[in-house]
Amino acid sequence: MNESALAPKVVRTRAGMAAERELARADGVSVGFVPTMGFLHEGHLSLAREASRRCDRVVMSIFVNPIQFGSASDLDSYPRDEGRDLELAALAGVDTVYAPSVEDVYPEGFATRVAVSGITEVLCGDPNSRGQAHFEGVTTIVAKLFNLIDPDLSFFGAKDAQQAAVVRRMVRDLDFRTEVVVMPTVREADGLAMSSRNARLEPADRERALALYRALCEIRDVATDGDLGAGLAGGRNLLEGEGIEIEYLEARDFDSFETVEDLGERPVLVAVAAEIGGVRLIDNIVLEGDGEAIKDQTGGQVAAGEAR
Ligand code: AMP
Repeated sequence: MNESALAPKVVRTRAGMAAERELARADGVSVGFVPTMGFLHEGHLSLAREASRRCDRVVMSIFVNPIQFGSASDLDSYPRDEGRDLELAALAGVDTVYAPSVEDVYPEGFATRVAVSGITEVLCGDPNSRGQAHFEGVTTIVAKLFNLIDPDLSFFGAKDAQQAAVVRRMVRDLDFRTEVVVMPTVREADGLAMSSRNARLEPADRERALALYRALCEIRDVATDGDLGAGLAGGRNLLEGEGIEIEYLEARDFDSFETVEDLGERPVLVAVAAEIGGVRLIDNIVLEGDGEAIKDQTGGQVAAGEAR
């Protein structure tokens, strides 16, 4: 067991994090970065383990970023448990946890936003969903973290496929030198995509939430038989049959995020968002032309046990 298995070093300020980065530079080591909002689960830990496998030093940020939340109640009810997070992070090979205060990240007078256009206008960026301001909040914090931590590799989850695509776009457009690595969605044994928000689900709602992945699988199966439209209709029926109010259920080109009617040559993202028992959940799968769920790191499906 290495030193980091006991406890990661916890850094609370931007100045402290900059000093840590200088140390890594002086040591000539590579740095892997895993941004999170904490309340860690296997999804986060799979990213940390991969970072630890591929990089000399691993930095994880734990910061519930207020500017990406639309509603104050969603922000206030976001689950937190830093003590447990630090233990889990250490076991997953994290060396440094950057857990700053909101005031340190956004001091009085902070007035900048980083915005990616185009692919942020749909799905979670639609005005009827979280809206583009959500992604502006994400890209603003991620740009700040990239500047501070200057990671060689940074690790994101396919569970938030649109977020990963937006971050990739930003990295390309703004010449960040980090390489973005996207890791497969980690699921509970019954298929529910792991999420910190799952902790807020009442047992009956947790059961109903299984319909999200079931609907995605049904869409995959019907689309494989050649009818994506019928698949989407079937998925919609399945969710509505469970009394789930759908925020969106759409098939889009995985690269351009344009809507698609059929499976073609290019990968198609099938994404769903719904509020269940007052908890907003998202999930997605990526289909290739032959309808097979992609098994590579851009959108593969993995059960919790396999990710260890
Ligand atoms: P969050 O703490 O929800 O902001 O997530 C931090 C990172 O972990 C993001 O890159 C997420 O995409 C990723 N992540 C969250 N849930 C999962 C999951 N079930 N499987 C894989 N990655 C995940």
